[in-house]
Amino acid sequence: MRVDVLGVAFDNVTLDEAVERAMALLEENGPHLAATPNPEIVQCAGRDPEYAQILADADLVIPDGIGIIHAAKILGRPLKGRVPGIDFASALMGRMAETGRRLFLLGAAPGVAEQAAANLQATHPGLVICGTHDGFFKEDGPVVQKIRDARADVVFVCLGFPKQEKWIAAHGGETGARLLIGLGGSLDVFAGKVERAPEQFQKLGLEWLYRLMKQPSRAGRMAKLPLFLASAAGARIRGK
Ligand code: UDP
Repeated sequence: MRVDVLGVAFDNVTLDEAVERAMALLEENGPHLAATPNPEIVQCAGRDPEYAQILADADLVIPDGIGIIHAAKILGRPLKGRVPGIDFASALMGRMAETGRRLFLLGAAPGVAEQAAANLQATHPGLVICGTHDGFFKEDGPVVQKIRDARADVVFVCLGFPKQEKWIAAHGGETGARLLIGLGGSLDVFAGKVERAPEQFQKLGLEWLYRLMKQPSRAGRMAKLPLFLASAAGARIRGK
């Protein structure tokens, strides 16, 4: 059963359960789409019906971001907990390394995916990274072909939202991959370009505050968060 949070239906899963579901999807022919919506993505889907439909059709939708958890609670249908996309990706790579599944990294500025691949191969011994491509391409065809030729099982698609999920919906099938996951700025983190919040911030659900302190330019984007929670309160009051 999925849990609706302001128009996006989330799988009510823990990190381990999300990884199990992803591994199960790898047993079936693809393409499967996994999305990691945060409040900004839910708000975007509210304005863009095509995007909302892509998320509704996704095979796995995990709650990335404490704002989703707060909103679900306000709506009276709490989720088990936050599953940050980056933690999900890391745990999945651990399982892929054990099972020999092939990973392709797509997205971010030129050079970032390669650096991320080098770091990930060091932190996940045995992980097969079968290819990389930056996220600033003009033509889709050659990128699709590169993923196909690499015989990828899983693709981390890190083009920012809503572009990444729309790209997966349009081209996922042609890549031959079984699971494509929209993971935003994760490659920048894996490459060491963007620092993740220290664990204490993560545990307190204050990762957003750390990001805001490090990148004050995100303030405009984050200012929408209280509005998101207000929408959840409004929906609850109206009985939705
Ligand atoms: N990006 C990309 N192609 C584009 C636009 C963005 O590869 O056409 C990358 C960008 O370099 C960054 C990521 O997409 O690595 C988006 O990061 P951001 O932190 O903004 O995403 P979020 O996690 O908030 O969705």
